[in-house]
Amino acid sequence: LLAALAALLLPTRPVSLPSLVQASPITHWPAFCPPQPTTKLFIDGKFVESKTTEWIDIHNPATNEVVARVPKATPSEMEAAVASCKKAFWNWSETSVLSRQQIFLRYQQLIKDNLKEISKLITFEQGKTLADAEGDVFRGLQVVEHACSVTSLILGETMPSITKDMDTYTYRLPLGVCAGIAPFNFPAMIPLWMFPVAMVCGNTFLMKPSERVPGALMFLAKLFQDAGAPDGTLNIIHGQHEAVNFICDHPDIRAISFVGSNQAGEYIYERGSRNGKRVQANMGAKNHGVVMPDANKENTLNQLVGAAFGAAGQRCMALSTAILVGEAQKWLPELVERAKNLRVNAGDQPGADLGPLISPQAKERVCHLIEKGVKEGASLLLDGRNIKVKGYENGNFVGPTILANVKPNMTCYKEEIFGPVLVVLEADTLDDAIKMVNNNPYGNGTAIFTTNGATARKYSHLVDVGQVGVNVPIPVPLPMFSFTGSRASFRGDTNFYGKQGVQFYTQLKTIISQWKEEDATVTKPAVVMPTMGN
Ligand code: NAD
Repeated sequence: LLAALAALLLPTRPVSLPSLVQASPITHWPAFCPPQPTTKLFIDGKFVESKTTEWIDIHNPATNEVVARVPKATPSEMEAAVASCKKAFWNWSETSVLSRQQIFLRYQQLIKDNLKEISKLITFEQGKTLADAEGDVFRGLQVVEHACSVTSLILGETMPSITKDMDTYTYRLPLGVCAGIAPFNFPAMIPLWMFPVAMVCGNTFLMKPSERVPGALMFLAKLFQDAGAPDGTLNIIHGQHEAVNFICDHPDIRAISFVGSNQAGEYIYERGSRNGKRVQANMGAKNHGVVMPDANKENTLNQLVGAAFGAAGQRCMALSTAILVGEAQKWLPELVERAKNLRVNAGDQPGADLGPLISPQAKERVCHLIEKGVKEGASLLLDGRNIKVKGYENGNFVGPTILANVKPNMTCYKEEIFGPVLVVLEADTLDDAIKMVNNNPYGNGTAIFTTNGATARKYSHLVDVGQVGVNVPIPVPLPMFSFTGSRASFRGDTNFYGKQGVQFYTQLKTIISQWKEEDATVTKPAVVMPTMGN
């Protein structure tokens, strides 16, 4: 892997694939410091060193050591990246669908071959456990695999003989240059929700990864190039607000895909839309798990604990809120016992169930929300704030935490905590639980645990949330469907990936043609031997 990293760090063209696969473990990376390794920009098919004077440090969340730095790309570098996308668009959009499909078929295989290496890089920069990092890459890989069905996904429609001798048909065509802005919590999966779908449809793409975890995307860009993606079809810039504003304002960018917090998402949606761009924005969440007393107790408690605390609660689909209905309220002590058994450790340590939070600021915010919950009257049944992880004393760890007797007016219920904190509310009936979920502004995901089909159906039917699990704690749809968050969790009208994703990145052209039957060329069979010049 050192060779792979070197490829991203040095201003040379990247190394060939075999050395990526056989390279050393990622834990050797800090040996490069000092000097700090720097993350490159990816412009016009080259990994280039930024000329900026402004850099952002990247930390390993398990140790808080600075492991690399990422540039805030300069205006001229960002301009060069868009110009490269624009220049590449004509050829790429005119490349046959079958050729684009072949590149993505090769790409999915390269991601599979390098899945473990990309995962190590994710754990190193983001902190999640290796198993979870593999899930991160795998769920993105599934989108790439699905993008390979472009030949069916991009079909237009036809209607022959709409009137005499007149046919109507539509082409689904790419938009041009599209852009993606990604969050820190899924460094591989979320960029892979974006550029593969857009590009297989014939768009070129500008990515801005989270400045906290750019490594996985750089690795994925290298593999994409090795799969045969022409120079300029994918460009990568780094940065924060200025890079985001640049994307929202640039006249050559036609569409923006955003995933992240509400604060950034609302802003990007408004600014991008005002500038006439298509924008889709997946944002924050407060996902409720409703536990009915007839549920399979063993299964439900395990699912709840896994979905609340896995990835240290830093998933937009984390089941961060439980509503225990009726007799299920008696299960609370057992829920606490199971949460206590989870092992908190650095993500690359064997047996770790959850790793650290992304930053000391994130830890401080989570601890503050726990404290506020207690002040506002919640019962702290399990407190992970003072956890010590041997060998990783400087990491941003918070252990599983459970706040019970939570009421809807409390801050810990109203705000997305994005940490390993489960807030527990109580309801007398299913109807009360449904009311509570529907009164919450977010509509990303929810789950009901029950053995009664009628209860499950009533819940799925009446709950106003985009993605509903029935005995499935984290109902993230596979890419033949779309990711369908709603209400405060989504802005836009066309969702990510699946058929909706293809619609977002394409526009229709409708052709109405008339070829009159009487104009058809009339020919006679030639019976005379043809002579040249006649
Ligand atoms: P974030 O909003 O802080 O960052 C996301 C991106 O926006 C980054 O690239 C960042 O550089 C940029 N950004 C940050 N603040 C900005 C601002 N004020 N103005 C302009 N740009 C800004 O989000 P994050 O902390 O990286 O990710 C966590 C959030 O993402 C959580 O709220 C989580 O629920 C959400 N999320 C949602 C989904 C989903 O599909 N609904 C998936 C993953 C994460």
